[in-house]
Amino acid sequence: MTSPPALIDIGLNLAHDSFDQDREAVVDRARQAGVSRMVITGSSLPSTRWAVDFSRAHPETFRATSGMHPHHATDLDAPTLSALASLAEDPQVVAVGECGLDYFRDISPRDVQRTAFERQLDLAVRVQKPVFLHQRDAHEDFVAILRDFRSRLTGGVAHCFTAGVNEARAYLDLGLYIGITGWICDERRGHHLREVVRHIPAERLVIETDAPYLLPRDLRPKPASRRNEPMYLPHVLEAIAQTRGESVVQLAATTTANAVRLFNWTT
Ligand SMILES: [Zn+2]
Repeated sequence: MTSPPALIDIGLNLAHDSFDQDREAVVDRARQAGVSRMVITGSSLPSTRWAVDFSRAHPETFRATSGMHPHHATDLDAPTLSALASLAEDPQVVAVGECGLDYFRDISPRDVQRTAFERQLDLAVRVQKPVFLHQRDAHEDFVAILRDFRSRLTGGVAHCFTAGVNEARAYLDLGLYIGITGWICDERRGHHLREVVRHIPAERLVIETDAPYLLPRDLRPKPASRRNEPMYLPHVLEAIAQTRGESVVQLAATTTANAVRLFNWTT
């Protein structure tokens, strides 16, 4: 049996403290599962600093993003923005974000979220790197802001996509890639996503675990811990391949090539 081509996890929160005790083992298990490269999500100034340092120390396996999650939008004052901006220039940083809008949890006020989002889109334009995007229950404002920046942006990915076909079409029209997580493995919540995933052109699909969040719910035997790990990325890939009626090997090659193109991650 030929093993599928090496995978790229385009989003995992490796700075998360749930990995503090066994981070190296987590990375080893991922590599053994065929996940040869990973992009560490920066979602605050400390997590971005951590992600950049860690990926500098392990450049063959890791890259980082530099950004402020919409939950923390109120933290994006001028000094923080300029610190994230200089980190964004680092060669290890392949995208600006995670940035965007989250009206589902509304942790930062919506007007503050919009301003923080626009500042980070500006930054992406300045450093000419793609954006790593988060959106929940804010589709219309999100698309309106992105449309203003579209012609100047070098690209981007709607990470952890969980919305419907219309939202997917709007993102594809904006030239974005679409990131699919283990959400698709959820028998109840993921049902509509399986339908949506059939409508995404193969050349725009990328895969991610968003670990330690979003443990696939259909892993058997059920893991003892609810913490997600990058080693489960092949499981997400299989679910997508199955619902699209494609071979795992083919989809592995396509999604890896997409991630390389999106992040300009040549080796
Ligand atoms: Zn997110």
